[in-house]
Amino acid sequence: MSALRSTPTGATVLVGVIGFPIAHSLSPRLHNAAFAQLGLDWVSVAFPVAPGRAAAALAGARELGIRGLSVTMPHKEDAAVAVAGRTATAERLGAVNCVVDTDGGWSGDNTDGAGFVAALARGGRFVPDGRRCLVVGAGGAARAVVAALGDAGASEVVVVNRTPDRASTAARLAGPAGRVGTAEEAAGCDLVVNATPVGMGDVGAGTDGWPVDPALLGPGQVVVDLVYHPPVTAWLAAAADRGATTANGLGMLVHQAALQVERWTGREAPVDAMWAAVAGGAAGDGDDGAGRAAP
Ligand code: NAP
Repeated sequence: MSALRSTPTGATVLVGVIGFPIAHSLSPRLHNAAFAQLGLDWVSVAFPVAPGRAAAALAGARELGIRGLSVTMPHKEDAAVAVAGRTATAERLGAVNCVVDTDGGWSGDNTDGAGFVAALARGGRFVPDGRRCLVVGAGGAARAVVAALGDAGASEVVVVNRTPDRASTAARLAGPAGRVGTAEEAAGCDLVVNATPVGMGDVGAGTDGWPVDPALLGPGQVVVDLVYHPPVTAWLAAAADRGATTANGLGMLVHQAALQVERWTGREAPVDAMWAAVAGGAAGDGDDGAGRAAP
């Protein structure tokens, strides 16, 4: 865990994260590790903001001189409406995970998808350009990932979801590369992503509910489970047993926070220090108390 650089003073710049529940969020730990490494007199704290109160919280935060906020469940869509301006990504997703102070008011951005792609690329592991990708899920996380894979030049982004209507909406975010498909198509894909909560707690317990049959996965494929609590889901372990290269969702969490730090400070985020702040500590810490991982 990172320590604050110094005791906050009247000159300390305050940022934070709003969500509900939020007490176990890893965001302050990630942000503060970055500020300490950069030698900045900045502090990030977690603010519990009740559902439906995002607009009021954002207005109040601006009055208080808070420089930026990370926005997490359940406020991402409300924040997209409440901000004064949105980046093209936030506009397209209709969801904001980060607000930045500007002269004209809060500017809303969404760093989830770019964070996912940056985590994939770390160490040269996987670059989506020209690759076939399959995403299971069509919720907020899946939509950010699908859009980012399309932007990164994936040749195909196949979306598989329990509710078909939501799958088509998500697939459109990848542009011409996006389409709705079936889990069986995973066998021919270079990247397979679980963007559902299946595997977390007792969601989808048992092998019947697996996002993709692990028998379809194997060497040469990268398999990512956005769940990181537990750090290795039974599905991810089964994919690794079949010879796939696997990763959990911690990388996306770290990199989306790193991009937030960059938006706020204008400095390059010290990603290694941020990784060190949460590596090995994700189990339990990332759960927001509602059985879901809280950025
Ligand atoms: P969400 O908006 O509620 O969407 C959930 C998606 O999962 C929907 O597509 C839903 O299908 C599907 N789903 C839920 N339960 C299912 C089940 N039992 N069987 C099959 N499909 C099921 O949630 P989200 O915010 O996108 O989060 C999804 C996952 O990503 C969560 O585990 C969350 O913790 C994780 N996440 C990780 C990060 C990170 O940084 N690593 C960031 C954000 C989210 P329907 O459309 O049919 O309801």
